[in-house]
Amino acid sequence: MTSPIVRFAPSPTGRLHVGNVRTALINWLFAHSAGGKFILRIDDTDLERSTQEYEDGLRADLTWLGLVWADTFSQSHRFDQYEAAAAKLREMGLLYPCYETADELDRKRKIALSRGRPPVYDRAALNLTDDEKAKFEADGVKPHWRFKLSGERVEWNDLVRGPQSIDTSSLSDPILIREDGSFLYTLPSVVDDIEAGITHVVRGEDHVTNSGAQIEIFHALGGKAPDMAHTPLLIGADGQGLSKRLGSLSMGELRAQGYEPMSICSLLAKIGTSDNVEARETLDQLAAEFDFGKIGRSPARFDEADLKNLNASILHGLAFDAVKDRLAAVDPRAANEAFWLAVRANCALLPDVAEWVDTVFGDITPMVDAEDKEFVAEAATLLPEGELTGETWMTWANAVKDKTGRKGRGLFMTLRKALTGQEHGPDMGTLLPLIGRERALKRLGG
Ligand code: GLU
Repeated sequence: MTSPIVRFAPSPTGRLHVGNVRTALINWLFAHSAGGKFILRIDDTDLERSTQEYEDGLRADLTWLGLVWADTFSQSHRFDQYEAAAAKLREMGLLYPCYETADELDRKRKIALSRGRPPVYDRAALNLTDDEKAKFEADGVKPHWRFKLSGERVEWNDLVRGPQSIDTSSLSDPILIREDGSFLYTLPSVVDDIEAGITHVVRGEDHVTNSGAQIEIFHALGGKAPDMAHTPLLIGADGQGLSKRLGSLSMGELRAQGYEPMSICSLLAKIGTSDNVEARETLDQLAAEFDFGKIGRSPARFDEADLKNLNASILHGLAFDAVKDRLAAVDPRAANEAFWLAVRANCALLPDVAEWVDTVFGDITPMVDAEDKEFVAEAATLLPEGELTGETWMTWANAVKDKTGRKGRGLFMTLRKALTGQEHGPDMGTLLPLIGRERALKRLGG
């Protein structure tokens, strides 16, 4: 196989959400698994809805995720090429002007449905005489332009869905150009895919029908249609279709919550596949495991709880140097290697360290039950002299046990609650030196 060239083609009309990041990721992983090239194409033919801010945002999100591109271009710079392609299709008689209004089309659809026929466009415009067209033009009615489908079956072997066959006689001829002369996505995408030498179009299964029409346009323009892969859509943890929540779960939101890019990529790469959902440290590892054959036909379930678990397991293995700056941004006292190594296993998200900063360095309210007051005060007097080290906790606990006779939970949990104000938390052996003698004695009421 020659090296694949793929593209991710978002429209800059909103923030990237988990659904389109998954498409970007699958394209990226496939390209990198096969020594290929990943291109970022900005689908901004809709000049009204596309904004520079969204474009900047999606580039920043992709970069943050590590989904870097080898090349990028915007459709809004290429209208001349689309006009040339449209002219070619007109010459071939494959792009024809239509003058129906939206209301008329709606009425036609309803009539067809009421007669038990599929609501397919009846191609009435193909029968217009030159005089009739001239009359519309003279009246200032602008045409929209439809591509004339062959009416035959379009077949391809989808890399995810297997053999596909679309009967184009069951489809309306797609509108490629609106009344105002603006291009819908269908034609520009094909023109760009041909020119960029795209070998594989990898996108969501909501585009399967488009593929039927687009494959015919590839052929009409003299190109070979790329291979196709249409991935099942995402569903939420509740098993429902792309919920409002999931649809709006943007990278901006996940970044603000403090998720690690690799937990997002690990989850999105593995859900809906035959692989286990497990965290990976690098995109290259995910790429090495990528295979279209592993992607199933049923929807991929995206559960935020899974994301959090993966995030926790990634944090547990993260070295201090990798997070130093982000820790400092949460709290300067968190930018401390011993502190990070002590608390990282107790954080699901990096900003969770704030809680442990308070626990270790802040003013906490010790948890001491009335009947433990005396015991805790006595323990305070037994805290070993000298610097508190990793061994201090056990040495101390043994001394307290020998002196008071307490052991097990009554010993360890009581001291933990007094020192941290909580019943759970990181290993006390590592926490105690960070808390330090002065704070420890204060908390023990000593
Ligand atoms: N801009 C289109 C979309 O976001 C691209 C589809 C494609 O990959 O061809 O749906």
